[in-house]
Amino acid sequence: MNEPSFEVIIIGGGPAGMSAALVLGRSRIKTLVLNTESPRNKITTHSHGFLTQDGKHPMEIFEVGKKQLTKYPAVHYVSEKAMKLTALPTGFEVHTARAKYTTERVEIATGYTDNIAGIGIPGLTEVYGKSVYPCPFCDGFEMADKKLAVFGSAEIAPMFSKKIWHWSKDVIAFTHGEKVSDPELVANLADKGIQVIEEKIKHIISENGQLKAIELEDGRLINREGGFLPDPKATESTDFALKLGIKKEVGRFGRDFYVVDENKETEIKGLFIIGDARNGWSGVAPSVAEGSEVAAAITHQIIEANWMK
Ligand SMILES: Cc1cc2nc3c(=O)[nH]c(=O)nc-3n(C[C@H](O)[C@H](O)[C@H](O)COP(=O)(O)OP(=O)(O)OC[C@H]3O[C@@H](n4cnc5c(N)ncnc54)[C@H](O)[C@@H]3O)c2cc1C
Repeated sequence: MNEPSFEVIIIGGGPAGMSAALVLGRSRIKTLVLNTESPRNKITTHSHGFLTQDGKHPMEIFEVGKKQLTKYPAVHYVSEKAMKLTALPTGFEVHTARAKYTTERVEIATGYTDNIAGIGIPGLTEVYGKSVYPCPFCDGFEMADKKLAVFGSAEIAPMFSKKIWHWSKDVIAFTHGEKVSDPELVANLADKGIQVIEEKIKHIISENGQLKAIELEDGRLINREGGFLPDPKATESTDFALKLGIKKEVGRFGRDFYVVDENKETEIKGLFIIGDARNGWSGVAPSVAEGSEVAAAITHQIIEANWMK
């Protein structure tokens, strides 16, 4: 069954996509939101650092956002998965299992998906988002002055433990079997009281998500109260931008960013990428900001186009 055409289709309804929908709805732009309702931070219990929403459960923020959108008749929200995105000579087609939608503009806001099981540390999945977190700006305050672990490769864990030292002076970096090749760095960290443990982890011991101890393969048991996992082996949740050939460039913190202009529009006219989907990690407030900015830019484009008709 063919569905009516939309001025904008937003694929993904996390903080980026829902914020874009709000501003487009208020501009009375006919918008479709397709959302599988699984934002990246849903596994954690408190979302931090977004003014007025600090400490709320991520899904509570989502539900409030979803309810607020119902006020705007121009926004059509469906819990459907976008399966395929095709660029037409003008506009786009988006396929779901149920329908084919057409539109003049698409915002990809599908985020990233972490792969904690793929890291191969038994027990890590149980503590991720509960007492071991990917980002100190999100949860460093709550973890401050605790006995902390930093999990990561021989390259990442020692460097990141230096950042975490700002929040707690009791930090141990665990490289899970990888040897650190830079003895100067290890000595430098030791000067600040940061130990690097290269032994393989046998199991992370926890209770209801609360990290208790790290059992090493050599039998040692290291008590820890929380930690950080700077590299959760995340990948793009969809390959829409990749398949359309959108280029990437290396940006902040060595991460890959899709090449977009100041409106987050790609080299394909009418195709926008926002939030984590654009850069691998944005955070809630910056994703909301990007959604809002893109919606305003699109509204300007539509006003100009209609003026010229
Ligand atoms: C454990 C953890 C804790 C975090 N804590 C914080 C914090 O305290 N503060 C903070 O600022 N940030 C935090 N973050 C980061 C934050 O979650 C992300 O930066 C933010 O969610 C990005 O928003 P987004 O809208 O780009 O993507 P997402 O929130 O991931 O939303 C993407 C949406 O797209 C949907 N989707 C995916 N594929 C499809 C498809 N094919 N069709 C339709 N819909 C689709 C998904 O279901 C999801 O609803 C945390 C992340 C993690 C993992």
